[in-house]
Amino acid sequence: MKKKLFINGEWIESEAYADLLSPYSEEIIAEIPQASEEQVNAAIDAAYNNREVMANLTAYEKAGILEKLARLLEENRTKAAEIISLESAKPMKFSLGEVDRTVETYKFAAEEAKRIQGEMIPLDAAENGANRLGYTLREPIGVVAAITPFNFPMNLVAHKVGPAIAAGNTIVLKPASQTPLSAYFLADLLEEAGVPKGAVNVVTGSGRLVGDQLVKSDKVSMVTFTGSPEVGIGIRNKAGLKKVALELGSNAGLIIDDGVDLDKIIPKCVMGAFSNQGQVCISLQRIYIHENLLKSFTEKFKEATEKLVLGDPMDENTDVSTLIAGEELERAKAWIDEAVAGGGRVITGGTIDKNILLPTAIVGVASDLKVSCREVFAPVVIINPVKNVDEGINYVNDSKYGLQAGIFTKDISTAMNAAKKLEVGGVMINDIPTYRVDQMPYGGVKESGNAREGLKYTIEEMTEMKLVVWNQE
Ligand code: NAP
Repeated sequence: MKKKLFINGEWIESEAYADLLSPYSEEIIAEIPQASEEQVNAAIDAAYNNREVMANLTAYEKAGILEKLARLLEENRTKAAEIISLESAKPMKFSLGEVDRTVETYKFAAEEAKRIQGEMIPLDAAENGANRLGYTLREPIGVVAAITPFNFPMNLVAHKVGPAIAAGNTIVLKPASQTPLSAYFLADLLEEAGVPKGAVNVVTGSGRLVGDQLVKSDKVSMVTFTGSPEVGIGIRNKAGLKKVALELGSNAGLIIDDGVDLDKIIPKCVMGAFSNQGQVCISLQRIYIHENLLKSFTEKFKEATEKLVLGDPMDENTDVSTLIAGEELERAKAWIDEAVAGGGRVITGGTIDKNILLPTAIVGVASDLKVSCREVFAPVVIINPVKNVDEGINYVNDSKYGLQAGIFTKDISTAMNAAKKLEVGGVMINDIPTYRVDQMPYGGVKESGNAREGLKYTIEEMTEMKLVVWNQE
């Protein structure tokens, strides 16, 4: 099926098209327009010229659009999940989960639209501040360029489109080339929800070309990017003075203290390591477990992992399917082989069956090997014994990334100490680092990013603070 670009409220054909293949069946599922330079400019112009229309909407009106969008998505739950599974090979059970979260994200955005507020400033606290009234306003930033990854094609788009609408901005969205269908589906629903013409534009094509044009445009006030650190850092370097919010990758770590009830945490750990084939920015990649528990943990982890159902993403029973692209399979396999050559012991998985990399756990991996120090983005987890929690904290911190980390412990002071010392954007106590709900502040330090998402926090990034001072003399 031939798709069209969504520019200035119109569905527009392009001169060039690219076949979109299902990662699992490798069949052609759609033809995707490759926007020309003029078409990307037209999308930027539409967003630029309609800034005032969006900025003038009342909070009530913006919340109304977002509430209707959430309702429409809820009504189309199964269809939306099928689109995600088809284009990204995310197993249906997780795609349904993503749609549910996306609905929630838009509902949170609708609620936040109603409480964008400034504050009174006590100017008379200064020697020269008598008789003055000061307050701040939060104003829309203008045109937001949103560039999004393949791994949560609906919810991560919602984390940009939702707050941009709530804040009264206009948007040009450039989704990942492998997952454009979710974005076009959203555009359909937004049109039905009554978003003003030109307020949201969707353009597809190569990230290098379309993305670059968005990042360099003088009419764009902010770039919000979720994706790999390499691309994110490149964007930062090209964006000049515009605001750049980066949500990047990680190699998330978990510490398991002595005395923890393993039966309670094993299902969480298996889910954290392997859901969406490990293609989650906070996928559980490194486990540091107290040496007393290592043997029992690895036995139970292996047993639970081998119960996972591998297969077709469209089948509701499937837990693990194929990776986003064939070369990713080969890359992940090469990294596993390197870990084994370096002394790691594979306790489960480690091989490819047809086009699926078996969920893989490797014990005893040195910190400088790729499956430990790089972002693996595949169903691979390492399990290393530690003598105590402090050693685990040092290992988790020995990373160029810092998105989220987790610790399971029964001891309050151990937990408090870990919360203080872990160098990450979020510490999950008695949970896996993969835990996320959509209103919480979410983002990383180091090479994991420079911003926070979670509707209230994104709205802060997507608005400018204006100060008003009245001289009452
Ligand atoms: P990616 O390769 O960096 O692509 C992300 C987006 O950037 C895509 O839309 C891509 O377009 C575009 N792009 C590529 N080159 C570009 C350029 N030179 N200029 C502007 N845009 C460009 O990432 P991915 O493989 O889709 O996603 C996986 C990564 O995202 C992982 O590192 C993961 O950790 C990270 N991630 C982070 C979070 C978070 O919240 N921190 C959440 C999810 C994922 P094309 O598809 O057309 O190349």
